[in-house]
Amino acid sequence: MHGLMMNLPLNISALIQHADRCHGDTEIVSRTVEGGIHRYTYSDAHRRSRQLANALTALGVKASDRIGTLAWNGYRHLEIYFGSSGIGAVCHTVNPRLFPEQITYIVNHAEDTFLFFDLTFLPLVEKLAPHCKGVRGWVAMTDRAHMPTSSLDLLCYEDLVNAHSDDFEWPVLDENLASSLCYTSGTTGNPKGVLYSHRSTILHAYAACLPDALNLSARDVVLPVVPMFHVNAWGLPYSAPLVGAKLVFPGAQLDGASLVELFESEKVTCSAGVPTIWLGLLQHVKAKGIGFGTLKRTVIGGSACPPAMIRTFEDEYGVQVLHAWGMTELSPLGTVNTFKSRHLEWSEAERHALQNKQGRAIFGVEMKIVDDEGRELPRDGKAFGDLLVRGPWITREYFRGEGGDPLADGWFPTGDVATLDQDGFMQITDRSKDVIKSGGEWISSIDLENAAMAHPSVAEAAVIGIAHPKWDERPLLLVRLKEGAATTREDMLKFFEGRVAKWWIPDDVVFVENLPHTATGKLLKTKLREDFKAHKLPGA
Ligand code: AMP
Repeated sequence: MHGLMMNLPLNISALIQHADRCHGDTEIVSRTVEGGIHRYTYSDAHRRSRQLANALTALGVKASDRIGTLAWNGYRHLEIYFGSSGIGAVCHTVNPRLFPEQITYIVNHAEDTFLFFDLTFLPLVEKLAPHCKGVRGWVAMTDRAHMPTSSLDLLCYEDLVNAHSDDFEWPVLDENLASSLCYTSGTTGNPKGVLYSHRSTILHAYAACLPDALNLSARDVVLPVVPMFHVNAWGLPYSAPLVGAKLVFPGAQLDGASLVELFESEKVTCSAGVPTIWLGLLQHVKAKGIGFGTLKRTVIGGSACPPAMIRTFEDEYGVQVLHAWGMTELSPLGTVNTFKSRHLEWSEAERHALQNKQGRAIFGVEMKIVDDEGRELPRDGKAFGDLLVRGPWITREYFRGEGGDPLADGWFPTGDVATLDQDGFMQITDRSKDVIKSGGEWISSIDLENAAMAHPSVAEAAVIGIAHPKWDERPLLLVRLKEGAATTREDMLKFFEGRVAKWWIPDDVVFVENLPHTATGKLLKTKLREDFKAHKLPGA
């Protein structure tokens, strides 16, 4: 016997429609690429998304056509999210920080029909266009007055939108239709497309709002620092209209000073971003001797959040850190670290240690850890193995079958090595490719980086395995010092004593000017391993 409840499909257009009806005067504020602040409301965003839907239809965009974007976080990008998905097309956010060759590959692989770009990316677009023959139109996301001169025959976003009425009824779509597309760059091979559906996006948006996840509400002012081209800004452009939170978009200015200015002027309560972005912000706040007036919490994920950063945010500035873990393939949220009531009675040291974990699975994400033979390992907080996940917002296959069947017995192998404890808290010990294998035992590069980051002179640290004749591999620590700070190799190594097992202490330290990062802000360890493969460890 079936239940007798309505079977209304979960459609993304319902989010902006709801925000318009119930939070019509709530603001969306954007720092624009053209300069200055743009301010309007959910009602305006809904109206212009409908105008855009009419414009796309007039351009001949059909259901499942891919609409590419090369754009910062801003109101026009938001309109493309809803205008394209709302008519059944696929919003394909492209990461402009990738190499032009990678972007060309991605745009062609996705078969983007139109590509919308912020003015910042005009030089990039001019480079791409000759190699992306399938793109029927390049749309500059600006108004007539700011249209640049270009060798390309560009379309103007505002002209497109203004040429069409807002008289548009969102079609009712099969909730399993594709809604958006995001490519993930593995360390090897070509980037692979993760194709989200309306259903997966809405379920993920609901889950993200839960109190023990991001705890979003109509009383929040959300500033996603994480770009809308990085897993849909972790779903915030969907979760914010779901609850009616005010949205603040930082545009291209992601430096500490610009962000703090927006945090304060717009009374931001909640933000989200990768650790590297917060390094810059915290340095600025410290240097200026200021704090955060309204910011209550910030989501930090994408790479392990250094414990020292959690302590600075919480102890010095009173901002709660939500340490979260996820992947492009998970839409991206998998776990968030929030306490259970029992933990509130723990000692401070115990609570701090717990916060360094990546957190508990949100309902909708099942997790287990397995050994090399695929046997499930105990949830005791000690055993570590390959982390597998499954759930309704997790990839079952990459776009156009790239890379074959990624699943193992119906579970998605994350490529992360982790522990799980009795309370359900997961801790990433490494990326399986980054773990250091020393004398048949594993050393966690993340633990060593976290320990190094607690040193007062260290701005950023990376640990990689270097081939060793006796031990197979031994850790090498690479350090970028804070401006004006100085320390020695010996001092660095001594700093690890008592913080990690003796045999984990790195064999050597190299001080570097800069550490390489991926286009999504993670340490680029493949490059480091390549650069330092000839490094001779003392005593090796
Ligand atoms: P991406 O799909 O580019 O977002 O990368 C996903 C990967 O980032 C995961 O598989 C992890 O290796 C890493 N990652 C994300 N969040 C965290 C975190 N909080 N701690 C450690 N690693 C993380």
